[in-house]
Amino acid sequence: MNKQLILALSKGRILEETLPLLADAGIVPAEDLGASRKLLFDTNLPGVKLVVIRATDVPTYVQLGAADLGIAGKDVLLEHGADGLYEPLDLEIAKCRLMTAGVKGCEPARARRRVATKFVNVARRYYAEQGTQAEVIKLYGAMELAPLMNLADEIVDIVDTGNTLKANGMEPRELIASISTRLVVNKASMTMKHDMLKPLIERLRLAVAARRKTSDAPA
Ligand code: AMP
Repeated sequence: MNKQLILALSKGRILEETLPLLADAGIVPAEDLGASRKLLFDTNLPGVKLVVIRATDVPTYVQLGAADLGIAGKDVLLEHGADGLYEPLDLEIAKCRLMTAGVKGCEPARARRRVATKFVNVARRYYAEQGTQAEVIKLYGAMELAPLMNLADEIVDIVDTGNTLKANGMEPRELIASISTRLVVNKASMTMKHDMLKPLIERLRLAVAARRKTSDAPA
């Protein structure tokens, strides 16, 4: 039997908040993740390894069983779909909102509005549910530029403070989903490696609960 667990971490903004949470849960990389070009790391826990990959690749690794567990934003999970994945725990980090946004004070001129986003599946679903006709265009970055350049009437993007929108003369409009970072687990691993997975998930659950308690405590 394979006595190894691979945990896939999302690079970037989420990683900065994930490492302190993992440390709270007693899971510490054996070396500094930022100091090397390596992508696969041992941890202080025997048999538990980390891979650091693009956020959008995490659901794929876990779904296909290349990783047993993963840490990914709900935005990425909504876009990817949840086939083959359990989502046992909200890690309550990297919270933000998935929203529609447009140029301040401007109503969409086109009857069939054009929407630029990297979340094409989420956007198509959302506008269909609203009964709004929309042509969804996939972009890979700098979404805020699209309405300014008349490429799109609206965007669907992540909003945290709203400063990026504001700096580009845009305003948030409708909330599509509240987002936070989730733990996902491969369905087959959950059965086959339950004895290793259960204590790991429990460590994380306790770390999240302890943080919630601290943040709820009166100052
Ligand atoms: P803000 O200016 O604070 O509203 O931040 C918006 C930008 O930061 C967006 O364009 C996102 O790409 C990025 N961002 C903010 N929060 C997150 C998050 N939790 N996960 C991924 N990207 C984020």
